[in-house]
Amino acid sequence: MSEPDSSLTVVRDVASLRRRVKVWHGEQRTVALVPTMGALHAGHMALVKRAKALADAVVVSIFVNPTQFGPNEDLDAYPRRDAEDWALLNAAGVDLIFMPDASVMYPDGFQTAVQVPAVSQGLCGTHRPGHFEGVATVVTKLLLQGLPDLALFGEKDFQQLAVIKRLVIDLDIPVDVLSVPTVRERDGLALSSRNAYLSEDERAIAPKFYATLSAAAAAIANGADIKACCAQAERAVLAAGFSSVDYIEVRVADSLLPLKVLGSEARILGAATLGQTRLIDNVKIPAQQAGG
Ligand code: AMP
Repeated sequence: MSEPDSSLTVVRDVASLRRRVKVWHGEQRTVALVPTMGALHAGHMALVKRAKALADAVVVSIFVNPTQFGPNEDLDAYPRRDAEDWALLNAAGVDLIFMPDASVMYPDGFQTAVQVPAVSQGLCGTHRPGHFEGVATVVTKLLLQGLPDLALFGEKDFQQLAVIKRLVIDLDIPVDVLSVPTVRERDGLALSSRNAYLSEDERAIAPKFYATLSAAAAAIANGADIKACCAQAERAVLAAGFSSVDYIEVRVADSLLPLKVLGSEARILGAATLGQTRLIDNVKIPAQQAGG
């Protein structure tokens, strides 16, 4: 694979990444890492923009991590668009791309795994066994490989964000984890590399997922019964043309524990399949109306 003609450096091994970060730190420059699986879109670029605003140097990793895909998932079909990604990152003023091969991340004999059991339980954890262990392990490795000052993640993958926040605390990894709100299409559909799988007809239906979650969030904020709202939202998503709903649930935002009483920070999260494409999304439940 030839590398594009650009001033942006691509490194593929840990020693080269560390060397660059060490130079920046020696110059008292702060370093931000934005981990991605490539096929970049405006959601990823919002993380990059935030990283540029907060740190002196920005590293973007691109690695389609095999261990977070289940045996029947889309690892082979996952979009790979290296040249376009590099052009976007170059235009955004990113300093370095870290793009390891699987053999760099998981050399022969590799056997360690990071588990964050409680936060990984339920929601996507139930429907994608092993997924969050794969995510937790690869993110831990990326953070220890680069030792950035900041790392940025999207609220789009809300359970993933909670897993990462927890592991950074539990493992004393010296990095600030920052989150960025979900970037959406004009019709509300959350940007995702997997949206490329949607047919034209499916693309027209897809925004109904966010619309339904938002309507449920508003109703709950107005005092409607949480269980009834989630059940109603499931019916609405199926009626819109989705083939199945994995879950639509309300959780405490920080811990992702089941919500007992509607209080400070509640979030409605969902996953549903449209044709062959599994979509996830989540919406903050606004603070309850006075007297509601
Ligand atoms: P991925 O390439 O799907 O692993 O995503 C890399 C990072 O981009 C993760 O932190 C995601 O949460 C974040 N991300 C993906 N889609 C969006 C979006 N629509 N808005 C904001 N962040 C996103």
